[in-house]
Amino acid sequence: MNWREEECGDCEMMERDVHVTFLEFMYNLLPSPYEPQEINHLTLAYFIISGLDILNSLHSVAKDAVASWVLSFQAHPGANADANDGQFYGFHGSKTSQFPPDENGVLIHNNSHLASTYCAIAILKIVGYELSNLESESIVTSMRNLQQPDGSFIPIHTGGETDLRFVYCAAAISFMLDNWSGMDKEKAKDYILRCQSYDGGFGLVPGAESHGGGTYCAIASLRLMGFIEDNILSSHASSSLIDVPLLLEWILQRQGTDGGFQGRPNKASDTCYAFWIGSVLRILGGRNFVDNKALRGFLLTCQYKYGGFSKFPGEYPDLYHSYYGFTAFSLLEESSLKSLCSELGITENAAIGL
Ligand SMILES: [Zn+2]
Repeated sequence: MNWREEECGDCEMMERDVHVTFLEFMYNLLPSPYEPQEINHLTLAYFIISGLDILNSLHSVAKDAVASWVLSFQAHPGANADANDGQFYGFHGSKTSQFPPDENGVLIHNNSHLASTYCAIAILKIVGYELSNLESESIVTSMRNLQQPDGSFIPIHTGGETDLRFVYCAAAISFMLDNWSGMDKEKAKDYILRCQSYDGGFGLVPGAESHGGGTYCAIASLRLMGFIEDNILSSHASSSLIDVPLLLEWILQRQGTDGGFQGRPNKASDTCYAFWIGSVLRILGGRNFVDNKALRGFLLTCQYKYGGFSKFPGEYPDLYHSYYGFTAFSLLEESSLKSLCSELGITENAAIGL
């Protein structure tokens, strides 16, 4: 047993430097257990690059090379093709889902995806790429093809599930590109409002059980679209749009006796909900209504001695839960971390382009 195993058996602090080393390792080479997730390569890259930014270590990233790599995933309509031909011209998630165009420049297999597009644009913002240089008109024009008559979005033009996750991706993409012509905000708002359940939380689709992730997508989307104000609770402004007191009641009940947040009633506390639930509280202005010290204590039980966070206490870390562990500590105002733009899922600095 080395010193760190002894020291970190009962960690009392967020080990920023160890997490930086963990992410730098992932940045240079993703370990083999991530092979099955190759299709989500851009998403994994988002966790790493944005994670390093939150940990105040973006200097480890070759920004121009990362921007070029991300841009290589963009789907472009061929020279003679119309961006409004029913396809979506966003970003592919990985090289294996990206097929070369035919001799006329037309994409035969276009698998560009809303979630990959969100991750691509987020990374470009983080590394400081000037988004006015991005061929964004084809992204927003073609994104309209993904919105359904009920206001929801499919993630890929060939179909897929429609739910709040992809409404959120569309809202975040529109916000970051500062161009809302790719979605009907009113229809999207109506869809989101239909997802609020009788208990105050939001399900992923209308009528579904309230869920931490769905609730984040609903509130962050409404905030990005400008339908709700920041800090509704502290400003005493009432929202006629959503039932805020009922939502707050549901949200506050998600903190368990172990200090962690769960995604739904009767589920175990899980690191990632410290972001999904914590961000909703941040947007509403209700962070002080929960026991932040207890939440911090729970997160430390999920911190791995060689860096990263696990889903549950004492398990091995994964990139997804590590990223949301870092965001959670940023929300807890850990001094060595950058502050977070909760509704975009990136740092404030990246969000405002510093
Ligand atoms: Zn989780």
